[in-house]
Amino acid sequence: MSDELGRTMVDAHPDPADPDERIVEAALRPKQLSELVGQERVREQLSLILDGAKRRGRVPDHVLLSGSPGLGKTTLAMIIAAELNAPLRISSGPAIQHAGDLAALLTQLSEGEVLFLDEIHRMSRPAEEMLYLAMEDFRVDVIVGKGPGATAIPLDLAPFTLVGATTRAGLLPGPLRDRFGFTGHLEFYSAAELERILVRSAGLLDVHLTVEGAAEIAGRSRGTPRIANRLLRRVRDFAEVKADGIVTKQVASAALAVYEVDAQGLDRLDRGVLEALVKRFGGGPVGLTTIAIAVGEEPETVEEVAEPFLFRAGLIARTPRGRIATAAGWRHLGLTPPVGSLGAVAGQQGPVAAASISLFDVDDPDVEQALSD
Ligand code: ADP
Repeated sequence: MSDELGRTMVDAHPDPADPDERIVEAALRPKQLSELVGQERVREQLSLILDGAKRRGRVPDHVLLSGSPGLGKTTLAMIIAAELNAPLRISSGPAIQHAGDLAALLTQLSEGEVLFLDEIHRMSRPAEEMLYLAMEDFRVDVIVGKGPGATAIPLDLAPFTLVGATTRAGLLPGPLRDRFGFTGHLEFYSAAELERILVRSAGLLDVHLTVEGAAEIAGRSRGTPRIANRLLRRVRDFAEVKADGIVTKQVASAALAVYEVDAQGLDRLDRGVLEALVKRFGGGPVGLTTIAIAVGEEPETVEEVAEPFLFRAGLIARTPRGRIATAAGWRHLGLTPPVGSLGAVAGQQGPVAAASISLFDVDDPDVEQALSD
């Protein structure tokens, strides 16, 4: 893919379902809890749950993992199955549109099997209701027939462990959230943790990566291992073609400039969202849907892929009337923020703006609703 100037562009958010992407991701996934970098709290809590279950010879409680894309939810689900020495079955909310789809999946599970349901918040309502009973009593009621003559046939299920993943725990209905015995919230990774992940991945991919090179890539990876690993592969390509194959700080920096990843890690979509907000809508407030149309993306992609990082970096903020660009956001595009923009007071920078927006608990469904369009 190339732009109007003929520069090579990488798809900033390639579909992880892309077969090549999946193969490399699989090769780089840590296989045991001890191999996992960062997420100390979740790792420790999970390790206790798994050890306890193993000691008792019972299946562990159902586990809900929440966090932005690429932080390790699928990896953790695979590790849970591996640590339990149990088979793993993978499906996702959007694939389960009818209760029958879920019944078919659940009744095939063997004892102790781990069922990973990605994007669990996107499951259909009837399937969700069936899941309540399955999680609590290991039973499903299959409805046969229609109307007044319909009968529910109860079917026992083998005890299993559900690992649900969601990018937004606040979107899950309370009754579903309550049925998980443990909820682990995955945090963004520090630069030091990302450097460790990069060094590990470089070893597995046979890439010669210097310490400074790792630091340069880590600083632009938006706190996300998937992005770090992806940038490493792009930088490796550049190093092999344009340099002597060694990823130094200079090589990493030159490569990332070609791929349009800026010094703070913003890529094309992130910058598109920020530019739309600043240049087309005068800094906002603007609704999510309007921004999504302006950048030609689905509202969900903008909300789940671009916005979490822009909020965290303090470049944009949510208000009850929509998204606004902060002073730091204007400055990031090389523009002078208008008087009165968030964080525009002399000396205030991005983190201050970020602190101001934390007044809103964006994981609370009610606030979520009030803050959305
Ligand atoms: P999610 O399911 O949250 O979208 P994944 O589990 O698919 O994220 O992780 C994406 C990639 O990031 C995987 O290839 C994995 O190798 C890497 N990764 C994620 N978390 C970690 C971690 N804690 N340590 C090392 N690598 C990680």
